Amino acid sequence: MKIVVVGAGISGCVCAYRLATEGHEVTLIEKGRGVGGRMATRRMDGARIDHGAQFFTVKDERMKSLLADWQAGDAVLPWYDKVPGRDDLVKRIRYRGRAGMTGPAKLLAESFKFEKEFFVESIFRGEKWEISEREGLNRKLVADHLVLTMPVPQILELLERSQFKFGAQVMDKLSKVRYTRCLAVLGIMNRSSRLSMPGTITHPTPEIDWISDNQIKGISEVPACTIHASDEYSQKFWDIPDQDRAPCLIRTAEELLNVKITNWSCHRWGFAKPLVTFGASQYLSKSYRISLAGDSFGGERIENSAMSGWDAASAILSSDT
Ligand SMILES: Cc1cc2nc3c(=O)[nH]c(=O)nc-3n(C[C@H](O)[C@H](O)[C@H](O)COP(=O)(O)OP(=O)(O)OC[C@H]3O[C@@H](n4cnc5c(N)ncnc54)[C@H](O)[C@@H]3O)c2cc1C
Repeated sequence: MKIVVVGAGISGCVCAYRLATEGHEVTLIEKGRGVGGRMATRRMDGARIDHGAQFFTVKDERMKSLLADWQAGDAVLPWYDKVPGRDDLVKRIRYRGRAGMTGPAKLLAESFKFEKEFFVESIFRGEKWEISEREGLNRKLVADHLVLTMPVPQILELLERSQFKFGAQVMDKLSKVRYTRCLAVLGIMNRSSRLSMPGTITHPTPEIDWISDNQIKGISEVPACTIHASDEYSQKFWDIPDQDRAPCLIRTAEELLNVKITNWSCHRWGFAKPLVTFGASQYLSKSYRISLAGDSFGGERIENSAMSGWDAASAILSSDT
């Protein structure tokens, strides 16, 4: 079967990987330049910085099998299981990418065809699915089955552009999905920070959820930090210029890390973590031959999103027999 998966986050990559290894002809489409989605790693002034998700945890047996593959492929490493002095945080192994959080998605992507910088403008169901690009190369793909894995608000925008609707009950559940926002600041530091392993600070102030030192984490030779603002701060300053909203976050980080931030950039994650999900780990419409997956379905966290992609693939494989 010809299957097109839209979205190269972990859910799309896991789904595409499973379908491809079962012998289907899979193409994964992504509007960005690479795979990973919110598992994003960026280069800046010689530093390597994880600017979206920072680590993942593993509970499910299926996720353990993926982890074993990623470890065998040298893509991931254990980062830490506890933070000294923070007994309130659950003791559990947090894994990181060896060279950044995009590692697992890059490894999965070796098993299927990848079309990058392809923004899906519209989808149309005739005898098969037709998937059309917004602009650029004006690519058009045809598929027997289509999988959408972006956050539900983006799925709804695509459905509207395509004048496509599911039944009322499904549309109602989709319309209720909600996300937090997150302003992320990536900073180059003038020297190594004063943190020790694992190089993280969680919720130091109401404005900040997370600070990490990418050098201590082991992914950057150049001292560089990631700062994630809280949902409240991000919502409040979402439309304010970077020069006005970043300095407060930078000052706090400089104080806590005992460094000067010499260069920085700010990024907006409009759909950071789901607050309200669809209520099932994936959705499959057998009549239209379309599946929906991602953390809007599986729930917050990389593992849940990956398992949503896995479940979507399982549902397609069993509906195909
Ligand atoms: C700041 C931040 C910190 C986080 N920290 C953690 C953490 O430490 N641990 C953890 O477990 N989870 C964390 N998360 C959550 C985790 O990153 C997500 O749950 C998970 O990565 C979501 O994967 P996904 O495949 O569902 O979606 P995504 O990764 O968002 O993938 C969807 C993809 O679809 C693409 N796309 C969207 N629209 C289109 C279109 N029209 N055409 C083509 N492509 C399109 C997007 O570019 C994107 O690549 C964090 C998230 C954020 C934002």
